[in-house]
Amino acid sequence: GLTAGIVGLPNVGKSTLFNAITQAGAESANYPFCTIDPNVGIVEVPDHRLNKLTELVQPKKTVPTVFEFTDIAGIVKGASKGEGLGNKFLSHIRQVDAICQVVRCFEDENITHVSGKVDPIADIETINLELILADLESVEKRIDRVAKLAKQKDKEAAYEHDILVRLKDAFEKDQPARTVEFTEEEMKVVRALHLLTIKPMLYVANVGEDDIIDPSGNEYVQMVKEFAAKDNAEVIVVCAKIEAEISELDDEEKKAFLEELGIEESGLDQLIRAAYHLLGLATYFTAGVQEVRAWTFRKGMKAPQCAGIIHTDFERGFIRAETVSYDDLLQNGSMTAAREAGKVRLEGKEYIMKDGDVVHFRFNV
Ligand code: GDP
Repeated sequence: GLTAGIVGLPNVGKSTLFNAITQAGAESANYPFCTIDPNVGIVEVPDHRLNKLTELVQPKKTVPTVFEFTDIAGIVKGASKGEGLGNKFLSHIRQVDAICQVVRCFEDENITHVSGKVDPIADIETINLELILADLESVEKRIDRVAKLAKQKDKEAAYEHDILVRLKDAFEKDQPARTVEFTEEEMKVVRALHLLTIKPMLYVANVGEDDIIDPSGNEYVQMVKEFAAKDNAEVIVVCAKIEAEISELDDEEKKAFLEELGIEESGLDQLIRAAYHLLGLATYFTAGVQEVRAWTFRKGMKAPQCAGIIHTDFERGFIRAETVSYDDLLQNGSMTAAREAGKVRLEGKEYIMKDGDVVHFRFNV
C-alpha cells in the first residue's frame, strides 16, 4: 500500500506523534494483509459516511479502510553526505509516497532544541536542503549521461536534458522539484528520476498544549504556513502530546474530550485525512448485511482494478459493478429505493471509480 513517511529533526515530537499513531492503531485482525513492521503504524481512516452506511444497512460488522505511516529516523545535517545514518535515511524516504515533516512550534525550556532555539523555518530548511542535495546529485549524474546524446541530436535525450537542467537550476536555488512546473508529458520523465523532493510534502506543526484550541496566536505556525505556500506543501497543526493522550482513550471518551476542548476533529484524524488526500487516494464502499466496508483506491482507477483491491479473482472475473453514489443511496434511504429511483448504475470495465461510490461487484469465478 501507499505510505507516508514521518520525518523531522531530533526533539521535535516525532516519536510522540508516531506513538500516538501506533497507539490509536487499527485492529490488526481486520487487516491481515498489512505490513508487520515496528516502523509502520496502521491507522483507520476516519469517515463519517461509513457510520451513516452502518446505520442504514445494520451489518454484522463495519470495517474502515486503513492508512500506513512509516517512522523514518535519522535525519541530521549532512545526511546527504552520509553523516550519521544519512544514507539509510535517504533510502527510506525514497520508499515512501509522501513526506510528513514534523516541525517544532512549541516552546519548552526543558526540551533541548538541536540548534539552540525554536526556529521552524531553519529546521525545515535543514531537512529540505539534505533532500535537495541528494536530488541534485542524482540529476547531475543523469545530466552527465544524457548530455552527449543530446548534443548528437538525440531527440529524447534533448527532451530529458532540458528537464534535468530546469531541475538543477531549481535545486541550486534551494527549491524542491515539486515547485517546478511540468506538463503531464514531462512529468513522466521526472517520475522516472525517483527524486525525493518531488514527493508531496506535509508540514506537521507541533504546537504546545496551550495553542491547540486557537493556533492562530502561535507565530511559528504562521511562519510555517507562509513557507509552505511558496514550497508547494500543505500544513496541519497538531499537539503531539495531546494526541498521545487521546490515543489512549476509547471512542466515547475521545469524543467527550474533544468536545470539552471545543475541537471538532483530533489532530491525528486531520493528519490521516491530509495525508490520504495528498496521496490522491479516495474511498469506495461495499455495503452488505454481513459487512459494511470502506476501501482505498487511487483516483483514476477503473472498476476492475478497484475490484481487485478486494480480491484478485474479482478483477480477473470482473463482469460489472452495480454502483450507486453515497449521496443517492442516503437520499433514497435504501438500496431498493435507490434502484427504483434509477440511481443504481451498471458500470463496465472502463468505468472510473468515484470517491463515495457504493459498489457491488459482479464477477465470474
Ligand atoms: P523526537 O526526537 O522528534 O522523536 O521527539 P520526541 O517525540 O521524543 O519529543 C521530544 C520531547 O518533546 C519529549 O520530551 C516530548 O514529551 C516533548 N514534546 C513532544 N511534543 C510536545 C508538545 O506538543 N508539547 C510539549 N510541551 N512537549 C512536547
